[in-house]
Parts: sequence; structure tokens; C-alpha cells
Amino acid sequence: MSPTLRESCGVFGVFTPHEDVARIAFYGLYALQHRGQESAGIASANGRHLYVKTGMGLVSQVFDEDDLSALPGHMAIGHNRYSTTGSSGLENAQPCLIGVADNTLALGHNGNIVNAEVLRSDLEEQGIEFSTGTDSEVIAQTLATAPGTWEERWSHMMRRLIGAYSLVVLTTEELMAARDPMGNRPLCLGKLDGGWVVASETCALDHIGATFVRELEPGEVIRITEDGVESFQAAEPKSAFCIFEYVYFARPDSVIGGKLIYPVRMKLGAQLAREHPVDADIVIGVPDSATAAAVGYSQESGIPFVEGLVKNRYVGRTFIEPDQRIREMGVQLKYNPLPELLEGRRVVLVDDSIVRATTTPPVVAMLRKAGAKEVHMRITFPPITSPCFFGIDFGTRWELIAGRLNEVEEIRQYIDADSLGYISVDGLIEAVGEPKDKSCLACFTGDYPVPVPLQMDKLALEPAGGGDRREFVRLESVPSLSRRP
Ligand code: 5GP
Ligand code: MG
Repeated sequence: MSPTLRESCGVFGVFTPHEDVARIAFYGLYALQHRGQESAGIASANGRHLYVKTGMGLVSQVFDEDDLSALPGHMAIGHNRYSTTGSSGLENAQPCLIGVADNTLALGHNGNIVNAEVLRSDLEEQGIEFSTGTDSEVIAQTLATAPGTWEERWSHMMRRLIGAYSLVVLTTEELMAARDPMGNRPLCLGKLDGGWVVASETCALDHIGATFVRELEPGEVIRITEDGVESFQAAEPKSAFCIFEYVYFARPDSVIGGKLIYPVRMKLGAQLAREHPVDADIVIGVPDSATAAAVGYSQESGIPFVEGLVKNRYVGRTFIEPDQRIREMGVQLKYNPLPELLEGRRVVLVDDSIVRATTTPPVVAMLRKAGAKEVHMRITFPPITSPCFFGIDFGTRWELIAGRLNEVEEIRQYIDADSLGYISVDGLIEAVGEPKDKSCLACFTGDYPVPVPLQMDKLALEPAGGGDRREFVRLESVPSLSRRP
């Protein structure tokens, strides 16, 4: 299986005084679909049992009315998955469910753990059996098998885990949520109808009519029960928020760090216009992620913004995408240029990032074929030279075009643009407005906020033979105990 290009996952949790919250979880996940399209899952609990259903594909492909009715209870968690650790089969879909002693626990994870393999072998030595290849199951088992109160368990877990994790956890009695000490991935708390919601991004709160309360702090755990929300700091914070969330991942209508993403991206575009001006007739953005930046470039430069590329929004975000062959074909399936707008024009083409440079060259070629006279590529993220170990699947250094080629000029030739300009690191920091020492910039500086292995194999946690790729869904109330005697 080829490595994929995308970060892993959106997470959601809801606790209300009312029954029937699976539907709320469904709409929460629906709003977070951009964070993962490979599989989706919801676990619910009613005080006595946990129920879970997971399936391959989009949230709307996985769940129908009957499924939601079969997920009873007043609390639920949900997950959208895009694989970074583990392959893309159903066995790796989340929430992952484990049984320990007479407790069961469901967990959804966004991020990536660096030392999952070591933790896993330690647990296996203690007789714990694993049923998936994900680091999420390693997290769940580490948490579930730790001794003591929940506070002690979480502290124990956070002392052991190295990496990024925004988590939602459901037991039969409570909903918990946590952010790793770096706070590398987003997670926020909202209020809904006498209850509570947690979500990767605020856009999920908006769609279900919840009000934003606050972001979880790095290293913070919250427990939501009938008595309300309880919070504790399970580990010392060491902030390193992923700056790529601002540039690409988060939805433009989400608020992170008190800032609405869309205007942040406009500022990125404006910064780029100041750093890399060019004589041109029109500015276009690669939709949808670079639209705001293109508008910003246009406003700053005075060159009109035009939608020269139309994106088919119903293509390309399905669970078949991780296949490299489909990804290559995907460019044509995904974008269509507007020749009348492009004919004879000098075009500034704004995009948020160049990663492997599989998408960019065919997009440039497509514009030329549609009549563009010149194509000046402008990128709102610095050259990505180092892999991400925290949940974004940038692959190895050798898969990254800026990891392979040292000079911007070489990359310009590779993508066949008339000019190429990347935003500067300082320009990026300035436009995003987050302190450098509280951000993770590793993918373009090579400076990781926590120790990382030299090379991590995405499939290292897979069972021999790659596991069994079953295309069916699981719907069950889970019995206890998954330990060997
Ligand atoms: P490339 O030319 O590197 O193959 O692709 C660059 C394009 O991929 C840009 O349009 C950018 O918005 C998009 N992109 C950046 N990061 C990711 C990612 O993690 N997943 C996906 N699917 N696209 C990404
Ligand atoms: Mg894009």
C-alpha cells in the first residue's frame, strides 16, 4: 500500500442530558469531513453499554438512519480517519474499542505517536493482545491498563507517549478528551443544549448550534459526566502547535488560537504578494484550500482575482484516494480550467503548499493548455523538507520535492512554472500571528519539538501479511476483556 498524503483525522464528542446523540455526532463528523475521508465511526454509550459502528468512506456513506438508531445513549464520540499510521483497511477504522477488566473504552485519535512500537511491545510482554495496526489502539491500551484513578492513568499515559494526540475517549459512564503536551493538533470545547461538545475544529460547533467555550490546553484532560466538566493538567505543557493547520488543514471558517482561519490565509496571500511581486493579468487560487490566499494576493497586488479553475467537489475525497495511481488521475478528475478566462493571460497561481509535487505540475500544465501565457506559482508555505511525525503524511524526505531538490530554481523547472515564490518563514509566522517558539515548524526547519526516530515506517505496526481487508461494517456491544490469561 502506498503512503498517503493527508493528515489523520477529525474527532468529535458529545454529552447531553438527552438520548439519541449519535445524530449529533454524525453532523459533527460531517462538518469535520475535510480532516479525513477514508473511514468514519461513531461510538455511543448509555450508562450501561458501549456501541460502535465504523465503515469505509465518507460519513454519509457509512451511516444511514437505521445505523444511527442502533447507536443509543446520551453520549457519543466520532472519528474521521485518514491513515498516517497503519494501512487504510476497515480494521484500522476508529473509534477503536477495547475491553479491560470489566470496563470497555472507545477512543478516537487525531495525530501520530512516535514511540508506539516500543509501547506496544511493552504491553504485549505484559500479555495484552492487539487487534489492529494503529497507534490509537496502543494509546487506548496504555490508558486502560494503567493503574489508579483517571487522573493517574492520564498522567501515566502522557509520561509514556511521545507524539501528537488530540483524543476523545468514551466509557460507559463518561466522555473524556485530551490534548498532548505540545497541543500539536487542535481540539475545542463547546456547550450545547445543557450538555457539552468537543471537536477538532470550531466549524463543527457552528453547524450543530453549539457555542464555543474554549480550546483545550496542551497537556489538559477534561472529563465530562452528569456533574459537568472537570479539568486537570496531566502533563507539563510544551506548546508546539502545527502551523500547517492554519495554512491548509483547518476549514477556513474555523477559529484556532482566537483567529478565524480565512483572514489568516488572506494575510498569507498578501504577504506573498509583498515578498514575490510579479507583472501579471489575473490571480487564481488552486481551489478550495488556496482561495483565501489568492484573494489576499489579489487585494495586495491589485491584480484581479478570477476563478480560473473549477473544482469538482464530489471527486477525489473518497477512500480510494490513497492509491497512487488514482491520485495521479485525480488531478484531471478534480480540476477543470476555464479557457476563456485564461486565454493569453499572465497568471499568478496561488497554492498553499507543494508537498510531493504530484499535483502541481499537472495543474500548471492544465492552465497552459487552456491558454495561459505565463504561470507564476506562489506558495503560502515554505519548502517542505522534512517528514512530519505528528499526523501529516508527508512521507519521507525523498518523497518531498523540496527534500530531494535543494534549489527553488530546480523545483520551478520541475513544476514547469515561469516563476516560483515561496513565502518566507518570518513572513509565515508574521501572517499567522503565533509565536515561533510555541509552534511546530519541523517540516521546513527539521527542528522537531520532541525526539523523533530517524525514519518511521508507516506500516511498522501492521500484522504480518498486511492484515485482512474486509469491506464490512461492525456494529456491536462489546464484551469485556481482551487480555490473554
Ligand atoms: P503536490 O503538488 O505536492 O502533489 O500537491 C500540492 C497540493 O496538495 C496543494 O494543492 C495542497 O493544497 C495539497 N495538499 C497539501 N497537503 C496536503 C495533504 O496533506 N493532503 C492532500 N490531499 N492535499 C494536500
Ligand atoms: Mg490544494
